[in-house]
Amino acid sequence: MLEWDPEHFTSFEHLCEVTLATIREKTEADQIYLWLNRPQPELFAFYPERGLVSLDPHQASMLGLPLPFIEQALAKGQLLIELKSDPTGWCEAVEAPPAQLRACFPLKRQQGLEGCVYLETHRRLDRLTPRQKQSIQLLMHYLAAELESRMLSNLVSRERDERLTTEASLVQSEALQQSFLDLLQSLHQVGVQLSSCRTESNLLHDAVLLARSLLQFDRVAVFLIDPDFTIMQGSWGTNEAGEITDERHFVSPIPEHPVVQEALRRKDYVLVLEDAPLYYEQQEVGRGWNAMVSLWDGDTPIGWIAADNLLQRKPIKTYHGEIFKQFAAMLSQMLIRQRNHAALEQFNRDLEVRVAARTRQLAETNEALESVNRALAQANEQLALLSMEDPLTGIANRRQWDLTLAREWEMARRQHRRLAVLMIDVDEFKAYNDHFGHGKGDLCLRQVAQLLQECERRRTNLVARYGGEEFVILLCNPQPGEAEFLCQRIHQQLAKLAIHHPASRVKSQLTVSIGFSYWAPDQGVQWEQLIERADQALYRAKSAGRACSRIFEPQSLPTEQISTV
Ligand code: GH3
Ligand code: MG
Ligand code: MG
Repeated sequence: MLEWDPEHFTSFEHLCEVTLATIREKTEADQIYLWLNRPQPELFAFYPERGLVSLDPHQASMLGLPLPFIEQALAKGQLLIELKSDPTGWCEAVEAPPAQLRACFPLKRQQGLEGCVYLETHRRLDRLTPRQKQSIQLLMHYLAAELESRMLSNLVSRERDERLTTEASLVQSEALQQSFLDLLQSLHQVGVQLSSCRTESNLLHDAVLLARSLLQFDRVAVFLIDPDFTIMQGSWGTNEAGEITDERHFVSPIPEHPVVQEALRRKDYVLVLEDAPLYYEQQEVGRGWNAMVSLWDGDTPIGWIAADNLLQRKPIKTYHGEIFKQFAAMLSQMLIRQRNHAALEQFNRDLEVRVAARTRQLAETNEALESVNRALAQANEQLALLSMEDPLTGIANRRQWDLTLAREWEMARRQHRRLAVLMIDVDEFKAYNDHFGHGKGDLCLRQVAQLLQECERRRTNLVARYGGEEFVILLCNPQPGEAEFLCQRIHQQLAKLAIHHPASRVKSQLTVSIGFSYWAPDQGVQWEQLIERADQALYRAKSAGRACSRIFEPQSLPTEQISTV
């Protein structure tokens, strides 16, 4: 018999074995089992020759264990004994075999513990001595206590395992968190470096470069798409050796693949294909994860970034996806800013070109305007000549004079009336100009013109500026001596006006010389000759010392009438 000594139990199985062996011995059991329902179903049998054997608890009924009887004992929580087979059915002649009993010893009910020792025996269990019963009872208690402590230790070790697992996952998540923070910091650095890029190509080149060196992506490529969402264009990428390559020559329709289409239509979405074929120049160069995230301008997709792990083969972590998404959002913003900036610069350049063209046009227009103005001034000069009034003095000009003289001559010829012409020339006028300046000279000419008009006010007569500092007066149908009288009046009025002329060699005041001639229809000269005659007389007045008047005196005429002031 196995010795029942709690000090020597090396394991729970050992305890079970000794306990079952002891009970078997005390009850002379033919079969004995330990059946457990909780904490987990277990079934052990004890055979003297094999010791403790673990059986499949689900096969309990197949082994002949009466489950309803066992459940009844468990429900009552106390020892149940009943007759297993009825010996009365045996023939009298034959000696009836001794009756077989079955007994169920429930384990003391504990929380989370349910089970019993089941046995079958020919021994009359009711005849067990109280001491025997008590020792079986004690064994059962001890078994229950052991089971409970085993349950507790299981619980403790399970909890310890759980704590260890939690600790390990905490350490792991701390490490992940640190990696994520490191990457976030790197992302910030990437942002700072990218913000100094001046062109779109430069920006995309550095984005690929920095995503590889600082954000732990093996290979990165950026593709751009047109506003119609049909054509994709390469920018910068990475070859199978991990070198940056210029992919700008690459243009192709956007793949119709539903996964790509979905990734392009979903904002803030990182598409990851695990164990996917990886390509370079449309050749498969290996397998690994392949991630894709799109770039956006507002609600319009403008491109995407692709990344994979071809070179180092590291698995993708959740936080890589997060960093990838942030990186795409940052690059989108920088790309838009760069494009807006470039558009603004182009706009400014166009504006400068337009302004330069406008300025040129304006200069040309101004030039044209100036030449028009010059032509206009010339035309005005011509007009002034053609008009009847002298612009400086406001009296009749040479043109009006010529027309009037021709007309009056014709009238006088027809009506047999006389005419007289006076030619008045300012003396030493060049010296006046030289002394006082041309402006004062003009003023002086205006004064002389006004004076002449005031001296001759008859409506039929005409005072005109003949040219320069020379004036003419036409007297129609003059009385005899009228021209002489007029000459005198002019000299007198001028003397009264007393225009200071210190440079004159004649007098210290302005003077004029006058030549005049009368004409009668019977003299048979043309009207043009009238002025020639007055001019000749003027010449004589000049020759006579100026500041005087002379009448025309033909050489043939015997006498010369001289009229002086
Ligand atoms: P003389 O006594 O012999 O007539 O001498 P003069 O200096 O008056 O004659 P000359 O023919 O030498 O000079 C005429 C001057 O009249 C010269 C010219 O500058 C000036 N003159 C002609 N037209 C104008 C004019 O519209 N304004 C001014 N200020 N001067 C004029
Ligand atoms: Mg003159
Ligand atoms: Mg003069």
